[in-house]
Parts: sequence; C-alpha cells; structure tokens
Amino acid sequence: MRLLSVIDGDLNRLLVFELEDGNRVESVFYRGDTLCVSTQAGCPVGCVFCASGREGLIRNLTPEEITGQVLLARTLFPVKRVAFAGIGDPLLNWDSVRETFWWFKGEGLKVSFYTAGKPADRLKDLLLIPHSGVTVSVHSTDPEVRRKLMPHAGDLDSLLGVLREVLPSLSKRKRNKISLAYMPIKGVNDSEEEVVRIGLLAKELGVGITLLYYNKVSAFDPVGPERYEEIFRKLRSMGVRVTLSTRFRRDRIGGCGTLVINREV
Ligand code: SF4
Repeated sequence: MRLLSVIDGDLNRLLVFELEDGNRVESVFYRGDTLCVSTQAGCPVGCVFCASGREGLIRNLTPEEITGQVLLARTLFPVKRVAFAGIGDPLLNWDSVRETFWWFKGEGLKVSFYTAGKPADRLKDLLLIPHSGVTVSVHSTDPEVRRKLMPHAGDLDSLLGVLREVLPSLSKRKRNKISLAYMPIKGVNDSEEEVVRIGLLAKELGVGITLLYYNKVSAFDPVGPERYEEIFRKLRSMGVRVTLSTRFRRDRIGGCGTLVINREV
C-alpha cells in the first residue's frame, strides 16, 4: 500500500491510501496526536448519516493494511493514539482488528473504538480488552428508528442484552471509558421523549453519552446548534456524563461520517 495524498481540512489532515488491489481507504490525523483508521474498504452497516457505507462493503482490510495506515502516517505525524473509527466497523473485521490492537498496544499507543456493537460475542470480547475507550452507536432506543438510521446494525435488544450483561461486571473506572453514541437527526430521533429515554438508558448502564453532531452527508438534516445545545443541557440535567462533538469531529474534511472509499485525488 502507499500514501497517495494528504488533504488539509481546517483542523484535520485526511490521509488517502491506495491498497495493492487499487482500492483507496482513508485515515484522519486529528487533535495533534490521534489517527482514526479504517478497518474495511466500505462498510456493510449503511448508516444514513455516514458516507463510508454508501457503496456497501468491498472487503475487509488485512492486519498489514490496518497497521500500514499508522506506519505511513507516522512518517509525517506524531501518532500517539489510534481510534478504530474510520471506514468500516471494527467488530465486523474482528480477527484482524484484534491482532492489530495488540500490536498497537505493544507500540505504546492508546487505542479506542467506535462500533455498532454486533455481533454480540465480539462486543463482549471488545469490552473486556484493555482499550482506552469504546463508543457504542445506539442513536435511538426505538428499534424501528435505529433500523432506519442504521439499516444493518443488528438487533437493538441483543445489543442492550450484552451491555446489560457485561457492564455491571466492569469496574467503575473501566465503565467510565464506555459511552453510547447519540447523533440527533432532525425529525428522526431528536424528540424530547427520545432524549429522555437515551439519558435513562445511559444512567441504567452507568455509562456516558457521546453526543455527536451530524455532518450533513445525505438527505437527512442536522438538528441545528440550538437544539443540539438543548439536548446536551437536558442530558446533563439528568446527571448523565456527556461528551460533545469536538471541532475536529465537525471539520468538513475528516469529520464524522465524511470518509469515503475510492476518493478521487
Ligand atoms: S457510521 Fe460506522 S458503521 Fe455506520 S456506515 Fe459509517 S463506518 Fe459503517
């Protein structure tokens, strides 16, 4: 594989890699120390708020193609942390991701994950390894609404079943590293009832909420800054630990949901 191009955003640096078979995937260097890496060429989950899954899945990346993103990025940037949050869902390529996780740990890197949380046995495995953060994409407590947003993310009940089974066995320190991702989208999952239900779920599970701001990549619309702020305040008033989308996550280059396969550069 080779590093084809580096595209500068307002804050982020987007790295485009060309693989041996000609497919192109992407990583994002952000925050001055973190590389968000891809685990699949394309993604089968098909979230409506993400451009990465538009073409479905082409194939899983090999361990060498995942570590290769870090090795090539390191020639330009001081990578201290790795986030499995680029193109693809890490649990859907778990054998390769697990192998690279241990390699990254051996290199002294901190490693965090974003996942839709299926399949259940792999999620259990992930929650128990020495990660630096796992964010599980919930987005709605209504199975129908979640299916609309994440058509192939799997069954919400079985996801919640794993979280209810595993989280109580974890130390508070470990649970503090786990959060539920909630990205409110206008008219879909932004009602007051939904906000309260998600807040109650986070409280029941003893985890925080990562409140993501939607970067518009499809026909769906963001809630707008005022409603986003209101939702933040509501969750906080319920006693939930809430993390807001950073400026890096909202950058038009390399922000959440904006990575694509086979970008023309
Ligand atoms: S948000 Fe993640 S799981 Fe959903 S389509 Fe994008 S890369 Fe796949």
